Amino acid sequence: MQTLGRYPVSEIFSSFQGEGAHSGLYATFIRFAGCNLRCSFCDEPGSLSVKGVSWISSEEIVAELKSPYVVLTGGEPTLLSLGALVSRLKAEGCRVHIETNATLCPDWVHALDWVTASPKPPDYAVAEGLVERADEWKFVVDEGFSAGCIPREVFCSKKPLYLQPLGLDLVSIQKTLRLLKELQGARLSLQMHKVLGLLLNQEVL
Ligand code: SF4
Repeated sequence: MQTLGRYPVSEIFSSFQGEGAHSGLYATFIRFAGCNLRCSFCDEPGSLSVKGVSWISSEEIVAELKSPYVVLTGGEPTLLSLGALVSRLKAEGCRVHIETNATLCPDWVHALDWVTASPKPPDYAVAEGLVERADEWKFVVDEGFSAGCIPREVFCSKKPLYLQPLGLDLVSIQKTLRLLKELQGARLSLQMHKVLGLLLNQEVL
């Protein structure tokens, strides 16, 4: 149950967007807790549940902003009622983006400036309404991923399609490059923040 006007936030941080069409953009990320999936490759296990997480107000969130570009991420932000927060962020002059696992499409998603939809295994389900609303698609190339995992409606949407290697290891990258040749028109998403971290030998913030 969501407490009125307060949101379960596991962290707020500002960094360079590393994925998709906005790679390289400095943004503030709001990471919400709670997710309806349990992906084997999840790199945010601490954000899967709201247990023990602080519930904070939109004022507290706004006070943490360091960029007018805001990315709602998780966990899975569409599990929450974020309409009022999105309105508040836009009133502050922010452009509000989301990264979603694509399983839900609440009304407030239509007020956002950019929607990154990233369907997940095992069934790569896409909620009705999100096919039209998505601005880009992103698929993580793990061991089980193949071109056949991509739902037909994703291709029909004609939105940019990104494939992202699970890790920055040779096997993951080579598999992703093979799939990009096979799919023709799909693009590489290389988690630029991690590449920069390796090049600079430090976490990029
Ligand atoms: S949808 Fe995202 S946050 Fe949820 S389990 Fe999968 S990778 Fe983790």
